[in-house]
Amino acid sequence: MSTVIPIREAVSGCGEAPVLRERGQREVFCGLTGIIWLHRKIQDAFFLVVGSRTCAHLIQSAAGVMIFAEPRFATAIIDERDLAGLADCNDELDRVVTRLLERRPEIKLLFLVGSCPSEVIKLDLSRAASRLSGRFSPDVRVLNYSGSGIETTFTQGEDACLAALVPSLPASHASAPAALLVVGTLADVVEDQFTRVFAQLGFGTDKPAVRFFPPRSANDLPEVGPNTKFLLAQPFLADTARALEGRGAERLAAPFPLGVEGTTAWLRAAADAFGVDAATFDKVTAAGRERATNALARHRLQLAGKRVFFFPDSQLEIPIARFLARELGMHLVEVGTPYLHRQHLAEELDMLPAGTLLSEGQHVENQLDRCREARPDIVVCGLGLANPLEAEGMTTKWAIELVFTPIQGYDQAADLAELFARPLVRRMKLVA
Ligand code: SF4
Repeated sequence: MSTVIPIREAVSGCGEAPVLRERGQREVFCGLTGIIWLHRKIQDAFFLVVGSRTCAHLIQSAAGVMIFAEPRFATAIIDERDLAGLADCNDELDRVVTRLLERRPEIKLLFLVGSCPSEVIKLDLSRAASRLSGRFSPDVRVLNYSGSGIETTFTQGEDACLAALVPSLPASHASAPAALLVVGTLADVVEDQFTRVFAQLGFGTDKPAVRFFPPRSANDLPEVGPNTKFLLAQPFLADTARALEGRGAERLAAPFPLGVEGTTAWLRAAADAFGVDAATFDKVTAAGRERATNALARHRLQLAGKRVFFFPDSQLEIPIARFLARELGMHLVEVGTPYLHRQHLAEELDMLPAGTLLSEGQHVENQLDRCREARPDIVVCGLGLANPLEAEGMTTKWAIELVFTPIQGYDQAADLAELFARPLVRRMKLVA
């Protein structure tokens, strides 16, 4: 465990550090992208994008739809007649939804997902959702959220989706014992690993079983109320957290479960809140910590001293930068994030090396200038910037891969490190 620095020693982090705020042209995906991991997670939900052919192409190519599969997402196309106000979009939407639900009776939760075009023509999807919910409940619940790319970034799609689902969560009984809710989509394999660790810590025996949100089934929504304590598993869930707090739930402050250190501190926040003693906690987590530390050692050999530059994209930048700096010895040239939620990221900021250049928002030309001047060993950025930067001889890592890949928890720590080591090794081989 020699590579892990306890949080309390990191008193000179970036908690109070100034942030370079930029506003200008941005290079990010839109919130529709979240459908790709959300539809895999909630297995009886359907996502109906109300958008243009561009939206349909984005979703289909990003999700890699197979021709024989029955996907659980689709696009209701807004065409020129709708845009010109010549057709009644609501009638058309009702027809599409009715046809869909007749054909797919397994759907229990239908999201109408707004897009740039639906926002431009001011199609009121919340009214459409309550009208359709009235018609199809109790068999199907119809909700809506926006995945539009106007002023948003791609992980906000999940935040908007979960925030829309919070009002549907059943209220917990006032006299029920305190319960733990893990909030944010995790790959099933990661969720199963955490479930086992929480069970070893006593959740499900002398404490209520831990619940996950979103659940795998729309009919298995967790209860929420003033006795709910929740742990964020993802750093991009500001609206969802606010909605849960509006239901009386309390957020447990913690860093995010990335790397040995982040995972341990995240689990410890839950353990402390539910009275798990230190000896039990150490015993339960010891094997995972040791396994992950050993697995990280070989990546540290390749990554220590390498310089990394983050363009703002996924909102995972700060927790990942903290992991790369502290557990792998990488040097942070610049850590850009689309939005900086100081409260949710307070523990992360405290752990960043003092003096790290933090930037929020984007002025892509200015940031490209800084990146070119710094010539980092690896650049984390969106797909739109990766190819031009590769052509200029830089090594890149697509930010979206960090969201699609299971990276949380002890057993994924080395996989997360490898996502950075692999392109560097490939580049070294090409140059040699
Ligand atoms: S929602 Fe907007 S940004 Fe996203 S694919 Fe559709 S038109 Fe493009």
